[in-house]
Amino acid sequence: MKTSVIGYPRIGENRELKFASEKFFKGQITESELDEIAKEIRVQNWFKQLTSGTSFISSNDFSYYDNVLDAAVLFNIIPKRYSKLGLSKKETYFALARGYQGEKGDVKALAMKKWFNTNYHYLVPEIDDDTEVKLVGSKPFDEFLEAKKIGINTKVAIVGPFTFLKLARYTGEKKKEDFKEAFIREYSTLLEKLNSFNVKWVQFDEPYLVKDINDEDKAFFVETYTKLLGKKDNVKVLLQTYFGDVRDVYKELTALDFDGIGLDFVEGRKTLELVENEGFPKDKLLFAGLVNGKNIWKNEYSKTLDRVKSIVTRAGVDSKNIVISTSCSLLHVPNSLDGEKKLSDDYKKHFAFAKEKLMELSELSVLADISGYESDARFIKNYKLFENRKNVVDEAVEKRVAAIKDEDYTRLPAFEEREAIQKEKLNLPIFPTTTIGSFPQTSDVKRNRKLFKKAEISKEEYVDFNKKKIAECIALQEEIGLDVIVHGEYERNDMVEYFGEHLAGYVFTENAWVQSYGTRCVKPPIIWGDVSRKEAITILWSKYAKSCTDKPVKGMLTGPVTILNWSFPREDISLKESTLQIALAIRDEVLDLEANGIDIIQIDEAALREKLPLRKSDWYSEYLDWAIPAFRLVHSGVKPQTQIHTHMCYSEFTDIIPAIDAMDADVITFEASRSDLLILDSLKEHNFKTEVGPGVYDIHSPRVPSVEEIVEALGKMREKIDAGKLWINPDCGLKTRGESETKASLVNLVAAAKQIRTA
Ligand code: GLN
Ligand code: ZN
Repeated sequence: MKTSVIGYPRIGENRELKFASEKFFKGQITESELDEIAKEIRVQNWFKQLTSGTSFISSNDFSYYDNVLDAAVLFNIIPKRYSKLGLSKKETYFALARGYQGEKGDVKALAMKKWFNTNYHYLVPEIDDDTEVKLVGSKPFDEFLEAKKIGINTKVAIVGPFTFLKLARYTGEKKKEDFKEAFIREYSTLLEKLNSFNVKWVQFDEPYLVKDINDEDKAFFVETYTKLLGKKDNVKVLLQTYFGDVRDVYKELTALDFDGIGLDFVEGRKTLELVENEGFPKDKLLFAGLVNGKNIWKNEYSKTLDRVKSIVTRAGVDSKNIVISTSCSLLHVPNSLDGEKKLSDDYKKHFAFAKEKLMELSELSVLADISGYESDARFIKNYKLFENRKNVVDEAVEKRVAAIKDEDYTRLPAFEEREAIQKEKLNLPIFPTTTIGSFPQTSDVKRNRKLFKKAEISKEEYVDFNKKKIAECIALQEEIGLDVIVHGEYERNDMVEYFGEHLAGYVFTENAWVQSYGTRCVKPPIIWGDVSRKEAITILWSKYAKSCTDKPVKGMLTGPVTILNWSFPREDISLKESTLQIALAIRDEVLDLEANGIDIIQIDEAALREKLPLRKSDWYSEYLDWAIPAFRLVHSGVKPQTQIHTHMCYSEFTDIIPAIDAMDADVITFEASRSDLLILDSLKEHNFKTEVGPGVYDIHSPRVPSVEEIVEALGKMREKIDAGKLWINPDCGLKTRGESETKASLVNLVAAAKQIRTA
């Protein structure tokens, strides 16, 4: 059988692209030096795929920042405010990606969005009424020729027109329908050019097809591709989908003149059923996404080969027409296990990062062609891996999860009663002020953590330094006049990794970086086995903070759904089961904080929305129906007078407001400053009961908001939110900010609060 890789990680084995780009931004290396490093990464990636025997290797899967941005620039979709700066091509590209501030002007970056269910952010193309869609770039051809030079005939990967048009932002009157013809024309030109270079295959990525597709969109899709495929000539077209199944368009998709169709058999719950029930056309290749491109566990060959068998025997696809593929681009997993020097082999042998997945594809493709593969050594070795994994089961944890009762998901008394009790107990002024938790992580703070990690300072020195920082932070907040005090989170590197380090069941990597956007990479920890709390996590810091002030101190925790969503999850138990285990661990911490006199506890759920299913009809049954109760389980054990806060980094929950209210927190803070406060209308409409702190200024920029500006924002908020329910706070944690702008901003925030209290 043949094999295919949808896309390969492009940051390099040791994040070379990130570091080179950052140097380029600072003017420390030239454009051609950056290009050289990028080329090296591409060549290395191609060779890795070639030597492991991959049959379909992509080109144009590389990107300096983002592949959707690449497609926008390729087709001249560049808003005027960028093109008129008169920058070079590369500078314009980076201006779109990260904004530009310099002699030639001052523009913000295009918006970024996590469109699907991963932590990867795409750039949002902006189409204006006078955008002239035109194939002006050459990146796909250049990279094809580059690979050809070293003897590799690649398939050219590019975002398809349907997904592009669906995800773009339209700033004027015109909508996607108005650009359909132009897109068909320019994508046809692209096909023509690919033909002229003798490209054999083009891969159009159309992940949007796994979402809910209504009749109108279906017609749009069919028309676009019917016209486009009429122009394909010799080049073969692979329509590539991922992140789910294509149940709404399967019939139409298979009827069109594609040469190959890529379907996701890992996340697409209905994919196998669709192929079996509806059949698969004899004249097309089926690119079967069977190796998980999103998780780091080894592929279970017995299951995968069973699936291949079903595709052949039950769906009647000729085995010659099956290409074993990754389920999505390998962009979402780390590069290679070669970078893990410290992790023991007992763990590593169960993992497959991008490079190891190439070997899996190769072995699977060989085994699939052997009739008695069960006795092949490669199969047996893999089979044995799944028989015994060490240190996974913790019976006490499993028993505890099994013993959760319905009433454990409900906090008593009901919200309104608690609200009154808390108002009396906390005795805060109307419109209380607070922050989201972290204060600036200055270089001395990072250094202290690093020295401790390397054992270059003692635990005592480490703790003393942090205590000193906490005391200063609290003195500052008292001086500024904030009502609810935080300790500043100086002990944390990352809001998930920090908790993972204190939980049993977690495994950590050294070099397993995954691109989140542009030059930003994350290193998600791995949930290895049953999770429990090893020890008290935050008590030391919160208790100390409380001893420094008479004002209420807010304890700071990360919630179970976010911890799960920003880790690599297990595949042997359900996400729900894992989340409940984490919820019980964090619940212990909540109760400990309460027992230590902390009256306000914030449980952050920054990533709550991330795994929201791509199909609306699955939102509740597949996700929210357990994710929201898991959050309630964390705090249902506290006394009525203990106030529970939560925080989300975005205000994009207009469509799930009832679910957010059902988290049953007492207060929620979120980012609203950048979204024109639209969410306030929805909160009012839904009679949102939870008290709210819609961030009054944007912490993502060093700008200091004026008092008037904050008062004005508060004025709008007061129109929609009852006075007794409104909190005043920045829109996220302050850890990335400098000290001086932080103080100035918070001083203005408190002044604004005083103004509206007396108005
Ligand atoms: N409490 C965290 C902080 O203040 C929240 C971070 C986040 O929302 N991403 O940094
Ligand atoms: Zn946030």
